[in-house]
Amino acid sequence: MQYWNIRSPKGQPGQDNNPGMTSVYDEVEIEDMEWDADARAFFFPCPCGDRFCISLDELRDGEELARCPSCSLMVRVVYDPESLPVQ
Ligand SMILES: [Zn+2]
Repeated sequence: MQYWNIRSPKGQPGQDNNPGMTSVYDEVEIEDMEWDADARAFFFPCPCGDRFCISLDELRDGEELARCPSCSLMVRVVYDPESLPVQ
């Protein structure tokens, strides 16, 4: 029996309940994010120059990870479900 290339994820904080390749960069209060009423989504600057994005629908579904479309980073959005925009 052979074991190929076993890589253990190390040095990645915030991996409590997200097994796999999840890479959570930081936690962000939703108040610190930028609301775009046209896109119906929240944005937050990513260190790569793009922006993390999470839509209102995703938040309503219980999603809490905002993803950057240009790199593999994510941020965990800290929010109160009862204070989401009504629209
Ligand atoms: Zn990025």
